[in-house]
Amino acid sequence: MRQNLHTHSTYCDGKDQPEQMIQTAIEKGFDILGFSGHGYCIYDDASMSQQGQVAYIHEIRALQKKYADQIQIYLGIEQDILGRVANPADFDYIIGSAHFVEQEGQFKSVDESEQTMCKILHEWFHDDFLSYAQAYYKNVAVMKDWKEVDIIGHLDLLTKYNEGNKYFDFEDPRYVALACDTIDALSHKIFEVNTGAIARGYRTAPYPYKNLLAYMHEKKIRICLNSDCHDRINLDCHFKESLDLIRKVGYDSMVVLTSEGFKDRPLDQFQ
Ligand SMILES: [Zn+2]
Ligand SMILES: [Zn+2]
Repeated sequence: MRQNLHTHSTYCDGKDQPEQMIQTAIEKGFDILGFSGHGYCIYDDASMSQQGQVAYIHEIRALQKKYADQIQIYLGIEQDILGRVANPADFDYIIGSAHFVEQEGQFKSVDESEQTMCKILHEWFHDDFLSYAQAYYKNVAVMKDWKEVDIIGHLDLLTKYNEGNKYFDFEDPRYVALACDTIDALSHKIFEVNTGAIARGYRTAPYPYKNLLAYMHEKKIRICLNSDCHDRINLDCHFKESLDLIRKVGYDSMVVLTSEGFKDRPLDQFQ
């Protein structure tokens, strides 16, 4: 079983057209490919335009039919918390993500660049990573009551530039408590293990950090493995190593998307 439900294309900030991505998925032996273009969001330059989003829906639905005998294609969307989709029923599933933090009505991206992240940390949070994390996780937790959100995207995206504990200690109990409270609030959702920052050279391990993944397992939270793919060569980036990590923290199953919704599959079926 090979699945990726977090896939970007030229409709937003991805490098490849949807059909090129599908062909690579077939070559790499994927069974399931879900597209998750950045939903229209006025704060996000990388998101689809409203018109683009209509065309995206149309094209992915057409490709779903065209390739039905070769691969299961699903139409999803990555919805930022600042840009909830108007018609969730248009999509097979929705990834809910927080890419911004807010201060007095201004929004700044936590993952756009290390420079922006440093600016946020310094100017808005006086270099106190804990206050920054508090503001970020407060945003993520709002999705607890959002019925349309199936999968929580890259839970700890704010740690993108923290390889080697550069800005704070991943194991700091005060930080871990903030993240775990958020996991508790969202425990009825599916979480993704996301290898996107590895493909982009920022990190050596996926989101969420291994101690948070272990906590999710302890809380019996369902997960899936996604590459947050923006370039088809990275469609299965770090999947093997991530599966090892998922197994190591104790998981023996993950979810797959089917025509009848999300179903659990034994971990040993995945590669
Ligand atoms: Zn994202
Ligand atoms: Zn994404």
